[in-house]
Amino acid sequence: MHSHGPNSSSVTDRRFGRRSLIKAIGAGAAAVSFSTLTQGVARAEEEMFIDAIIIGAGYAGGTVARDLARKGMSSLVLEAKDRIGGRIFTGSWAGESVEIGGQWVAAQHNLVNAELTRYGIKTYMDPEPNRVMVADGTAGAIKAVTPTEATNILKPLWTEFYKGSEQYFERPNTPLYRKDLLAAVDPLTLADRFKQMGLAATDLAQLTGEAAVYSGGSSSLGSLTGMAQWYQLSGGTYESYSTLIGRRPEGGMTRLLQSMITESKATVRFNSPVAKVTDSGSRVVVETTAGRRYAARVVIVCTAVNVWKNITFAPGLPKAHTQLMTQGMDVPHGTKMWLQIKGSKVDATTGTAPEGSGILMMVPQKQLADRRLMIAFPGPGLNVNDPAAVQAAVRQWIPGAEVLESRAMEWAKDPYTGSWGYRKVNQLLQTFPQIEQPHGRILFAGADIAHGWHGAFIEGAVESGKRAAKQALALA
Ligand SMILES: Cc1cc2nc3c(=O)[nH]c(=O)nc-3n(C[C@H](O)[C@H](O)[C@H](O)COP(=O)(O)OP(=O)(O)OC[C@H]3O[C@@H](n4cnc5c(N)ncnc54)[C@H](O)[C@@H]3O)c2cc1C
Repeated sequence: MHSHGPNSSSVTDRRFGRRSLIKAIGAGAAAVSFSTLTQGVARAEEEMFIDAIIIGAGYAGGTVARDLARKGMSSLVLEAKDRIGGRIFTGSWAGESVEIGGQWVAAQHNLVNAELTRYGIKTYMDPEPNRVMVADGTAGAIKAVTPTEATNILKPLWTEFYKGSEQYFERPNTPLYRKDLLAAVDPLTLADRFKQMGLAATDLAQLTGEAAVYSGGSSSLGSLTGMAQWYQLSGGTYESYSTLIGRRPEGGMTRLLQSMITESKATVRFNSPVAKVTDSGSRVVVETTAGRRYAARVVIVCTAVNVWKNITFAPGLPKAHTQLMTQGMDVPHGTKMWLQIKGSKVDATTGTAPEGSGILMMVPQKQLADRRLMIAFPGPGLNVNDPAAVQAAVRQWIPGAEVLESRAMEWAKDPYTGSWGYRKVNQLLQTFPQIEQPHGRILFAGADIAHGWHGAFIEGAVESGKRAAKQALALA
């Protein structure tokens, strides 16, 4: 991957036919600079005309760039941040590689696994938990049990929770296949489903934490169809759903995306937030917040739905897009916290705590010589910047734990990504499949709007990127 500095001169399609552009930019992009391309060309309104402009260098954008390159189409990727990855961000902490955003890839993620194989990237497993926290009574308390005891408590409850999803998501990769049955389910929140079940208070408390994590802090925010579709995609059993967490690519989550972008030979411009996209019918002009302009035959918007509102689209977006953008698809609270807990043998603790708890979910990470790394997903009530509050919350999970250091990424506050996506009620039937359709020469991709593993999985970003690349090829 490479990027160009801000001094590129102007190029227009009036001087470069499509064929010569592909030749010049596509195959040899790494060697050809914009200034080479522009030699002798009078300055015109756009800096560059290219086959495709991709907005966003996350997994969806990287997939589009790579798939287009394989079909001979060149692309320019405009990325608001100074790095690739978006909601994937491999960093290092305590001398270890840590994922600040998305971390796990499941065996069921067929597209991602095919990509890992393609680039020769192996996977490994996080440490197995030896201690699971479950609800203890109704007042938010939790207690430790063994993994087997936890399964005995949770399996019947979750199995009941998802009852019927094997019918309304009979084909979970084609979510609208049983539109008839979905009509009764799409309006329900996760909390509505809990009410339907008529659970005793302690049983309810076993389930609310996980629902609250995925749907953004409260089980009343997200749709039942969100988790129910993931459950069926995973294989439709408590055991299959449990395998979604734990498996990681060697070298970190950014590595695969880097491989895809490198293969694409796309030009990536960092620190280039897009402000405006104008489709004139035969070409699309893209303008950054800094006023730089580029033109292409087709533009693929590969950002989170919540940040579409930062871009002015002309003509204006269709109804389904406007609805999703206004309602939002990314969770309003989605924070991931890394902890270093003192001790040479800190229990590998996992589990969930009832909605309203300071920490809703924990996942054990590597035991180092004198400390264990842990991941926590806090609820909206915990001030993650207050070390004393963090320590107190952790002690509910691990009595007497000493938190040496903690670091939280409050993704919902990130202006360019927001946090992971999770569908709200009625969004499935009201906006699919329209949301996947081209808006003239403007196309949309991203995990949020995937029809399979939507929202919280790079698998969805890859799926939607593949679909958008096909649409772009048909239009170009
Ligand atoms: C805390 C957390 C944990 C997660 N855990 C997992 C997990 O374990 N496994 C998993 O598979 N997935 C996980 N996910 C979800 C996964 O990270 C996302 O679904 C996926 O990365 C989204 O990819 P994307 O390409 O659709 O969007 P993004 O990653 O959001 O990429 C979009 C890119 O567009 C850029 N952008 C936005 N606006 C503009 C603009 N106007 N101009 C130019 N560029 C712009 C952004 O900076 C960003 O780089 C997690 C996410 C989070 C936040």
